[in-house]
Amino acid sequence: MSRALIWLRRDLRLDDLPALQLALRRGEAPIFVYVHAPQEEAPWSPGRASLAWLDRSLRALQADLRGRGSDLLIAQGPTLPTLLQLAQQAEVDSVYWQRRYEPAVIARDAIVKRELRAAGLQAESVKGAVLFEPWEVQTGQGGPYKVFTPFWRNAQTRLKDVVATTAPEALPAPPDVLAAGSLAINALGLIPVPRWDGDFWERFEPGAQGALRALDAFVDGAAEGYLSQRDLPERAGTSRLSAHLHFGEISPAQILTTLRSITWSAAAQADVDGFVRELGWREFSQHLLYHFPHTTDENLNPQFVAFPWQDDPRALVAWQQGRTGVPIVDAGMRELWHTGWMHNRVRMLVASFLTKHLRHHWLHGARWFWDTLVDADLANNTQGWQWTAGTGADAAPYFRIFNPATQAERFDPNGSYVRQWLPELACLPDKALYAPWEHADLLRRLAPDYPQRPIVDLREGRESALAAYQGLPKRD
Ligand SMILES: Cc1cc2nc3c(=O)[nH]c(=O)nc-3n(C[C@H](O)[C@H](O)[C@H](O)COP(=O)(O)OP(=O)(O)OC[C@H]3O[C@@H](n4cnc5c(N)ncnc54)[C@H](O)[C@@H]3O)c2cc1C
Repeated sequence: MSRALIWLRRDLRLDDLPALQLALRRGEAPIFVYVHAPQEEAPWSPGRASLAWLDRSLRALQADLRGRGSDLLIAQGPTLPTLLQLAQQAEVDSVYWQRRYEPAVIARDAIVKRELRAAGLQAESVKGAVLFEPWEVQTGQGGPYKVFTPFWRNAQTRLKDVVATTAPEALPAPPDVLAAGSLAINALGLIPVPRWDGDFWERFEPGAQGALRALDAFVDGAAEGYLSQRDLPERAGTSRLSAHLHFGEISPAQILTTLRSITWSAAAQADVDGFVRELGWREFSQHLLYHFPHTTDENLNPQFVAFPWQDDPRALVAWQQGRTGVPIVDAGMRELWHTGWMHNRVRMLVASFLTKHLRHHWLHGARWFWDTLVDADLANNTQGWQWTAGTGADAAPYFRIFNPATQAERFDPNGSYVRQWLPELACLPDKALYAPWEHADLLRRLAPDYPQRPIVDLREGRESALAAYQGLPKRD
């Protein structure tokens, strides 16, 4: 029987794995390999929280494969010579992998494909962890979309064709020669030292099983009511599937297939459609990243080239550490630090505060998120930051500036979220929780350890951001 290497990257699952299905269809015995080469993804090599997740995800996949009679072989890069060597040792005919759409990865993969083919191997990439390839959904003129609504209107018409496949219960063992040379996952050095990630794993279970459990929990719980609950950060009102999706522990097609297998009431169906629309934003982000690859580091909207961003390292550190004196912002940044995740509404608020009230370039925030989020994803992170900063596609206009105090009052109405992440404010009465500087006596008496004034006066920050925006040269 001929053999195929299945080169796994960020598709750490077995069900609905197109590369595996391709090998099976061609009657080839699959050999699963992960090649660790983060430097090849520079300047967006995975951050530290991502690496901590990766460690657990690889272990989960290896256990799954071993349970089916196979194994996950672990190697360390550079990728091309490593794959060539493995292919030669195992005498494989083919190498298959799922595509990724980050610019550095596309460039690397093109070389890998070319050289593997030059070495006489069948090297093929197949669709990645998306519902649609970024080039499949096109405008009437045949170009990429820059606005979400028409993109999604078009993409949605294709959803009915989406189906998920399953993996066989038994898979063949890899050849002894490869198994003997495989590294231990520990050798990759992914586990943080010191262990700052302890709290992460109270909330998340990396791996395909953890992803399915998170999906089940969502289906049984927050799916119904998603539209009304998804903006309330104190609730578990969203799926928390983002890191599982990022690492390909679950595919969007698997999620759709599960949601479709359930008969929902009309109201719940609207919630489910709202959730699927968020998966649509994920698709849109991949679409933008693929068609506008420079936007990982540059504004999509060229008008912002001349924007007078500020550079204040002290303010940036206060933002990173959750010490700005604006409770909802600080609560979000502390949630991120402790759990590796932050609620979407709060992501928008902290990003708006950094890019507008503090007028820092969105890249400062994107880089911090990149290192600290377990779901750090170049497509979603770039899109999320550029959208909030007003520099991106279909973005919130720059002049629409969230007021973090009124937003907190609206979305955290009894202060539970702020109190959870800022225990030093727990004793403040509700009325003083959103803009505590307006209650200076209470703040001094009840929360002496919290900043007594916000790092920027909200009104002044807003006005100076607007003035900077209005000063921009106008473009057609
Ligand atoms: C500044 C900023 C940075 C962000 N950085 C990231 C990031 O690095 N990685 C990431 O996965 N998401 C990012 N997001 C999007 C969003 O905040 C998260 O996907 C979401 O909070 C994850 O929680 P969930 O899985 O419970 O979401 P749910 O509400 O359950 O949504 C389901 C899935 O849809 C996708 N999704 C939801 N909202 C968005 C969105 N606005 N844009 C794109 N996809 C979305 C995610 O894959 C998510 O898992 C960012 C948003 C902002 C404003």
